[in-house]
Amino acid sequence: SAPLSPQPDVVGADVLIPLVNGERVSYANFDYAASAPCLEAVRATLADALPYYASVHRGAGFHSQVSTDAYEKARLGVARFVGARADDAVVFVRGTTDALNLLARCVPDACTVVVFAGEHHAALLPWQHRGSTAGRVVRLPLPASPEAAVESARRALLAAPEGPRLLVVTAASNVTGELWPVEELTAVAHAAGARIAVDAAQLVPHASFDLAATGVDYVAFSGHKLYAPFGAGVLAGRVDWLRAAEPYLAGGGATANVSEHDVRWNDLPARHEAGSPNVLGAVALAAACTALTEAGQDTLHEYEQSLLDRLRTGLAQIPAVHDLSLWGPEHPRVGIVSFVVDGVPADLLAAALSAEYGIGVRDGLFCAHLLTRELLPPGHTQAARASLGLGTTVEHVDRLVRAVAELAEHGPQWEYALVNERVSP
Ligand code: PMP
Repeated sequence: SAPLSPQPDVVGADVLIPLVNGERVSYANFDYAASAPCLEAVRATLADALPYYASVHRGAGFHSQVSTDAYEKARLGVARFVGARADDAVVFVRGTTDALNLLARCVPDACTVVVFAGEHHAALLPWQHRGSTAGRVVRLPLPASPEAAVESARRALLAAPEGPRLLVVTAASNVTGELWPVEELTAVAHAAGARIAVDAAQLVPHASFDLAATGVDYVAFSGHKLYAPFGAGVLAGRVDWLRAAEPYLAGGGATANVSEHDVRWNDLPARHEAGSPNVLGAVALAAACTALTEAGQDTLHEYEQSLLDRLRTGLAQIPAVHDLSLWGPEHPRVGIVSFVVDGVPADLLAAALSAEYGIGVRDGLFCAHLLTRELLPPGHTQAARASLGLGTTVEHVDRLVRAVAELAEHGPQWEYALVNERVSP
């Protein structure tokens, strides 16, 4: 039977959009993994906060006090949402990319960083980028199974030279939605005397995550994938490396005192939040955390899984469709399906889905070029990705399956001008 849409509602679910044939339909958004629409509860919180927002921490005026209170309450709310330990830091950043770049500048000098080749570029690249304090980066090949991932990480961490070591992994892949064995990876990291940082950008919108329960040392995620607007994200975890590092940005807020020849930097979290913080972004992000918690993340997860099953079952019945997966169709995943259709290039497929059916998917290599290229069947250079969330309905899923079946059979009905050199978003 068709699952009922649970609360909370998303903004814009009732918007009608035009198709090339002039018809208007409800927008079937299958691009939640890129950015999710705002929740109604988040919009309401923002509407309440707008008349009061002001610069935080250093203002004595009423609006500054209200905003400071809201900003710090947001930090506490986020700490609860990710199950932070009492002494963990919660640093507000711009998003997952920013969070992991911050961490890359906070790892101790000479730290060995172990990372799988298939990571999103935000988790793959910061360790070798200018400003990173990592000493050595070990890039592991794509593992053939979750067990192989754990074993490969274990060996690499044990083989690393003495000194600090950090394992960086995704919790849920933004390409396949597949869940990585975070708890097992945490166990091998800790047994090897290493730490683990988890990119939870694609996990927290779909399932709960708990730092204390998993023992994970650092978690990073983005508000705009968690039903809040752009511009705010989180790095949460152990304080010592973050506290010992140079501030991420030099400027006001990160400073405790500045004299003519010296600067004394602030402690956490202000140390890494120089400049006027994104108060509304943090408040919105925390409101999304609250709304998801109140709705019950397990209930939402179940709802999404029923839609995901329906989508995957439908696509599996179209012979030209290949669903990309690293560990096989049975491996658990969040609501993300990347696929290709024989005979219809992914960019053309995406353009036709949008213009002819009012369906928004993403096409390309999804900022995980190494993984996506590895998973593409011969003859394909990019894939389409359908990712779902709280505004997705049974009608959307059925429309997508029907559209893909029709496009696989007849090709697009219209001509679309495409920039074919485009390889990634
Ligand atoms: N990691 C993963 C798994 C992602 O899906 C994304 C977003 N595509 C990021 C990191 C980067 O997030 P942001 O763009 O918000 O920094």
